[in-house]
Amino acid sequence: MIGNLLRSRTRWLWLSLLSFSIILAWITYETRWFYPEMRRYFGDSGTLMGQQLASRSRHHLQAALSDLAITKDTADALANAKSNLDIAWGFINIAVYKEHYPCTSPSLDRLDRFIARIDTTSPPTAQESLLELLPVLQCATEIEQGQWDTRSAVAMEVAERINFHQRMLLGGAAILYLMGIGFWWLHEQQRMAFNQNLRDKLRWKKQALHDPLTGALNRRALDADLNLHFERMASEDYSFVMLMCDIDYFKPYNDTLGHAEGDKALQRVVTAIKEVLRQEDRIYRYGGEELAVLLTGTTSDEGVEVAFRALEAVEQLHIANPGSPSTYLTISIGISCANAGTRNADALIRDADKKLYQAKHNGRNCLAT
Ligand code: GH3
Ligand code: MG
Ligand code: MG
Repeated sequence: MIGNLLRSRTRWLWLSLLSFSIILAWITYETRWFYPEMRRYFGDSGTLMGQQLASRSRHHLQAALSDLAITKDTADALANAKSNLDIAWGFINIAVYKEHYPCTSPSLDRLDRFIARIDTTSPPTAQESLLELLPVLQCATEIEQGQWDTRSAVAMEVAERINFHQRMLLGGAAILYLMGIGFWWLHEQQRMAFNQNLRDKLRWKKQALHDPLTGALNRRALDADLNLHFERMASEDYSFVMLMCDIDYFKPYNDTLGHAEGDKALQRVVTAIKEVLRQEDRIYRYGGEELAVLLTGTTSDEGVEVAFRALEAVEQLHIANPGSPSTYLTISIGISCANAGTRNADALIRDADKKLYQAKHNGRNCLAT
């Protein structure tokens, strides 16, 4: 199926969609890690319980110690110390601490026992307080530092991962960019190949329908156009005119001035006739120095007018022709108008030829209708 897609005419679209989807999926994959990672860092559950509770516990332990060891055994000091120790106990009685710091549970037991003694008739002395509470204080400090270290390690890890994923995203964006350029380039290649192909086809078509010497259309084009004109005539009220032109005394011209000069003269004659035609009229090289002209949507009278203009245009070129009585190169024209009565293209050409022969017979440099 993918093979078919890649061979289809829309393969560039499919290829682009496929690769952009892959890149998009990659970028999505690269970005979706971010949320859980951040949660892990900022969350207050699991191993990241934080160090704050241990810090507070330590603070209250220190306050209790100060009451017990410095202010000594007044009733107020004892009450204060007891309340601070209760709070300190609560702040380290945390599942995460108990799980990760072995000193936690013994410290809680020790605190329990110590708090119970405060209410007895013989409360702990300053020295006993120091001996009992210092290990608890050390444990709170250990938890605090341990949590700080855990937190820093996670922060470092997150920073490194952010760095890594940033590089991956940057890579993805660069690949996307390069792919964009690549697709544009491939598309450009294809467009250029397509245009070249089109130009070649147009050139071949032009070559197939044109005479290389004069640039006029050739016999093949004449046949095709005649068919079109006859088709049109069959479906609507339409007439057109064919002029069959032949250069007078062209053989002597060639014989005296050479074939190359003859070629040049032929080209000039074609250009001169073209200039008197409308855009929709066309000139064809019918044979050696015989030229046919088709006048689109034209009546017989209009055709005669154009033919006169063509005769004059060629004569006005003033191409000296030593072999011609008029001394200039001239043409003769046979005119035939195609209308509903004309049987087919052959009949039209035969008629135009016959008129041309008449024009030659009538002395040349003239037209016969
Ligand atoms: P007419 O007035 O009766 O037409 O006399 P003509 O000498 O022109 O006789 P015809 O029409 O038979 O002439 C044909 C000559 O046209 C033969 C050849 O010398 C010349 N010719 C035909 N094709 C070419 C061409 O492509 N180049 C050149 N230079 N001459 C050509
Ligand atoms: Mg001739
Ligand atoms: Mg001829």
